[in-house]
Amino acid sequence: MGGALAAETAMAEPTRLSNYVDGRWVASTATEHVNVTNPARGIVIAQTPLSPAPDVDAAVRAATAAYPGWSETPAVVRARAMFRFKQLLEEQFEDLARLVTTEHGKTVAESRGSVRRAIECVEVACGAPSLLMGHGLENVSAGIDCVAMRQPIGVCAAIAPFNFPAMVPLWFLPFAVVCGNTFVLKPSEQVPLSAQKMFELLGQCDLPPGVINMVHGGREVVEAICDHPGINAVSFVGSTPVARFVYRRATNAGKRVQALGGAKNFIVVMPDADLDRAMPAIAESFYGCAGERCLAGSILVPVGEAHAEVRDRMVAAAEAITVGDGFEPGVDMGPVISATHRERVLSYVEKGVAEGARLVADGRARKLPREGFFVGPTVFDQVSLDMSIGREEIFGPVATVAPVTRVEDVFQMMRQHPNANATSIFTSSGKAAREFSHRATASMVGVNIGVAAPMSYFPFGGARDSFFGDLKVHGRDAFAFYTDQKVTITRWF
Ligand code: NAD
Repeated sequence: MGGALAAETAMAEPTRLSNYVDGRWVASTATEHVNVTNPARGIVIAQTPLSPAPDVDAAVRAATAAYPGWSETPAVVRARAMFRFKQLLEEQFEDLARLVTTEHGKTVAESRGSVRRAIECVEVACGAPSLLMGHGLENVSAGIDCVAMRQPIGVCAAIAPFNFPAMVPLWFLPFAVVCGNTFVLKPSEQVPLSAQKMFELLGQCDLPPGVINMVHGGREVVEAICDHPGINAVSFVGSTPVARFVYRRATNAGKRVQALGGAKNFIVVMPDADLDRAMPAIAESFYGCAGERCLAGSILVPVGEAHAEVRDRMVAAAEAITVGDGFEPGVDMGPVISATHRERVLSYVEKGVAEGARLVADGRARKLPREGFFVGPTVFDQVSLDMSIGREEIFGPVATVAPVTRVEDVFQMMRQHPNANATSIFTSSGKAAREFSHRATASMVGVNIGVAAPMSYFPFGGARDSFFGDLKVHGRDAFAFYTDQKVTITRWF
């Protein structure tokens, strides 16, 4: 039994979480709470307050008061706070990973991977003194010089989904803060504990009160963030309908917005693919994190004669997956997030059967742990885009195989689909890979890679209904999103 299980036992009496405002933990004024549940066991481990709009206002007032001092703090000093945060995250790495598994359900190995990605965001943000540099030119006209400088934009907010409890908040917080902004986070009400722990660590990083704030809640907090006149920029990650709603509402209120939505990712397998190497990566793409990844494979598209073997190997891979509590050794796949979500995923299995797809691996027939929200890995064959399982994001361990005769059909399918987050091709042909990368509608493309996840120094985000906004997440775009460029043109008499 490791540290996180001990922590979990300690949380057997569900504690009500507090907000973090002005450098202190403060009780939410919520009258309603939602349960945080360990999805592998079905036990309640904490309660998230559904904070009302005045709690958002309190956080924005603290962030507004902290802004003049923080924005004038030298970039190197701001970065120093993030170096300290990185050090604390490294020291707490294992506990944080185990907390992610406790509240989310993914395996400890998967949680470790996600915490490593979270720390990488902090590492990139530590480069702020270089990455914030402006540019200039002498003699734009005789005796006239011009410089462009990056300045912070004010109070920024981020709203997170449930599927990466530690990583997604750190797509934003470190970058906003090193750029000189002050910040308000709303974690997912389903997985608030990792954010809670990270704020405990941030409290030890010499950040002045009010620079970082956290307000727990649901829809009311999101709407208050979109509407609050004191917030200048909003980042959102979640499902497409809410991403679209947040983008419209917050831009309407005059804010800079980046809103990342849902996905339906095509994984294409050419007849010349090296299947011994490809299939483990493909199975991991569909079933890793129980399919609850915005970069997860969702539609498997074998081209031409690849079909039968790819389908059969996918069935074998699905059936070989050990499902169980992510803390147990030997477990490959944990539960989905909640009982409600399990029902939603299973309803897609029923719809798939009703719509005429061929159920070739039925996860419902698997013997699964009785407690917890487990779904057996499932494979459908002969899926088309006019079926709901071919069109809609399932966000669970259900693979849909949609064979095509020519690669041209893949591009046709992509054009028909409103989402365009990530996609991959498996092939031995450089020409096929080059054409695929060039023509794919999605913005994150893998070549012989199952999960096309850009590192934190590259931009992350999709296109079409998977992304609303202009500047993407992390990398150089983060420094652009969190700053305004001021251009000064100078002549001395
Ligand atoms: P969600 O849209 O249900 O919730 C996201 C956030 O919005 C949460 O903080 C939640 O409290 C809030 N919210 C939910 N419903 C709302 C409403 N009606 N009005 C206002 N706010 C609301 O998403 P989720 O279930 O937490 O996360 C899964 C989704 O996130 C999937 O669609 C997945 O593809 C997507 N996602 C996308 C990316 C990406 O990079 N594009 C990354 C991770 C997750």
